[in-house]
Amino acid sequence: MKKIGVLTSGGDAPGMNAAVRAVVRKAIYEGFEVAGVFNGYQGLIQGKIELLQLGSVGDIIQRGGTMLRSARSPEFMTEEGRKEALRQMKAHQIDGLVVIGGDGSFRGAFELVKMGIPCVCVPATIDNDINGTEFTIGFDSALNTVIDAIDKIRDTATSHERTFIIEVMGRDAGDLALWAGLAGGAETILIPEEGYDMDEIINRLQSGTGRGKKHSIIVVAEGVMSGSALADLLKEKAGIETRVSVLGHIQRGGSPSARDRVIASQYGARAVEVLGEGRGGVAIGMQNHKVVDYDLEVVFAPKDHTLDMGLYKLSKELSI
Ligand code: ADP
Repeated sequence: MKKIGVLTSGGDAPGMNAAVRAVVRKAIYEGFEVAGVFNGYQGLIQGKIELLQLGSVGDIIQRGGTMLRSARSPEFMTEEGRKEALRQMKAHQIDGLVVIGGDGSFRGAFELVKMGIPCVCVPATIDNDINGTEFTIGFDSALNTVIDAIDKIRDTATSHERTFIIEVMGRDAGDLALWAGLAGGAETILIPEEGYDMDEIINRLQSGTGRGKKHSIIVVAEGVMSGSALADLLKEKAGIETRVSVLGHIQRGGSPSARDRVIASQYGARAVEVLGEGRGGVAIGMQNHKVVDYDLEVVFAPKDHTLDMGLYKLSKELSI
């Protein structure tokens, strides 16, 4: 292993820059050269590759987004595209690759592993939905963004005595909705893992109103239904008026939290260590507060990233 490549791919997440910085600095510390691949797998196919130095990653640890930029690459999904990517890697003498992204990006890396390129994958997605790791880079920052929004919305909810529905990201995973809902003191949290019972939601709202409660916050993960669909249902079934706030892409932006910067630094450095040991086909993650590496195939096994249902139960108990 002489030269390590690094790319960011798929949906961006705060802390990707901190991970890129860690890969570059740790690799140089270990005596490797580092090639930055711009625009994810698409850039790999197009040869958008540059040698990075210590200074190339200066002043980025605090920035959101990714200096290497990210992309989705349909071309890389084809054998032809991947052969071209491999040709570019050989031409640039890249011996191993660190892929920073979500599970789609990990699947792309696995294809390269099958073609003989050692790849190590660093989980970065605000959804926190990757098998084998308790935390992905970006989740904590997104969580803080959502809580900030909930706090602000609560001010107006209180002033106007309104029920607000806040729609957050999470198609299959309810982590963001659950953690944000709990931390933001939401009365009701809807997550894809649990489904929902309209009668129960209505009962909770009505019994709150009966006790003199003047406002409520409902957090719904987009994978359950849209905020506006929920608003329609509440109006239709119980005549309950709500206001809807869809947080959308602001959840992906902003300066990474301290925690995300720390885990991004740890994951990025560990990825370089693993490649240095000549291993590939590996994902980095966190288990029981320790940074670990594990077989990439764990990521693709039937979903085992389980939400902390203890937190879900607690959120219900605390919002009676
Ligand atoms: P994320 O990494 O955030 O889950 P995507 O699912 O969009 O994002 O995946 C990012 C990119 O990874 C895709 O655009 C594609 O280039 C590559 N990729 C995803 N799945 C595969 C696959 N099965 N085979 C090859 N490449 C893939």
